[in-house]
Amino acid sequence: MEDFLSSAVGIRINAVSKTFGDQIAVDRLSLDVATGSLVALLGPSGCGKSTLLRMIAGLESPDPGGHIYINGEDATRRSVQDRHVGFVFQHFALFKHRTVRQNIAFGLELRRWSKPAIRRRVEELLDLVKLQDYGDRYPSQLSGGQRQRVSLARALAVQPKVLLLDEPFSALDAKVRKELRHWLRNLHEEMQVTTVIVTHDQEEAMEVADSIVVINKGRIEQVGTAAEIYDRPASPFVMNFVGEVNRFPNGDGELFVRPHELELHQEPTEGSVPAVVHRITHLGKELVAELRLVNGEQLSAHLSRDQQVAEKLVRGSRLYVLPRHTHHF
Ligand code: ATP
Repeated sequence: MEDFLSSAVGIRINAVSKTFGDQIAVDRLSLDVATGSLVALLGPSGCGKSTLLRMIAGLESPDPGGHIYINGEDATRRSVQDRHVGFVFQHFALFKHRTVRQNIAFGLELRRWSKPAIRRRVEELLDLVKLQDYGDRYPSQLSGGQRQRVSLARALAVQPKVLLLDEPFSALDAKVRKELRHWLRNLHEEMQVTTVIVTHDQEEAMEVADSIVVINKGRIEQVGTAAEIYDRPASPFVMNFVGEVNRFPNGDGELFVRPHELELHQEPTEGSVPAVVHRITHLGKELVAELRLVNGEQLSAHLSRDQQVAEKLVRGSRLYVLPRHTHHF
């Protein structure tokens, strides 16, 4: 029991379940989140990630038996206020009749900070989220991305021990979302607050998080860095959920191969199978070749345009496909 009392574990989730009627949303899940790290809960819709986040926040209570520790203290039965967590939801929840400054000040007023201390803290936060010139605007006068930055500033104002983000950028368009991911990453490096972000977007998880927790049906499938879960997926579920995958025939069975792990040859080589090019798509410096095998199976191969074979690829070309690396479970 001692180790979690050390400062290394910011959040410990110990055998936590949550059932709604006869539905198990979270199933005896255990997880440690290192202090100061940024962890993404990644999984398909309905896998239980929001429920888990809401239990960490104290907005939902776990079934009996499970425990949640925040900075070494058992927070399972603590109220939301006592947990000192900052929370940002997908949908902007700013007070529309308050200015940006007043929104950020809200939690500090509740905690009865003095007026000068509030003023100082609000300016610090405006600076941190790069909205120095927007303090006197109302939420309706901001873009979606700016509003989410205000939401984050408001959540951070009270210096939470833990920051919880539930799909914070998913209502924004793709370009703004990408900018905000970079921004969040930089902000986290500056703040070092233990942060958990819920997302169903694997690219988002890979871009922002130190560590990714892949969840399926209320259970953890794998915990790892972006590279670990992509290159060494622990299960077919992870392999399929995190990135594209091909099924390569192998005797009676099949092997899983990533599109960039396929080599294309003009002559047969040992282990290769014949294929016909069905379609070529140019994606900047990459080419995507859709291939058909003799048995009717389709494969997708990604190759860089400077590869020699790339020049010769046209619809209908016959060639040989060789997996450079395969995954089996
Ligand atoms: P999404 O990405 O769609 O938000 P999620 O992974 O966050 O999905 P949860 O919201 O945690 O999933 O829901 C997990 C399961 O629990 C779902 O099947 C959902 O219908 C169910 N559930 C969640 N909250 C409740 C509730 N208050 N009452 C009944 N069932 C619920």
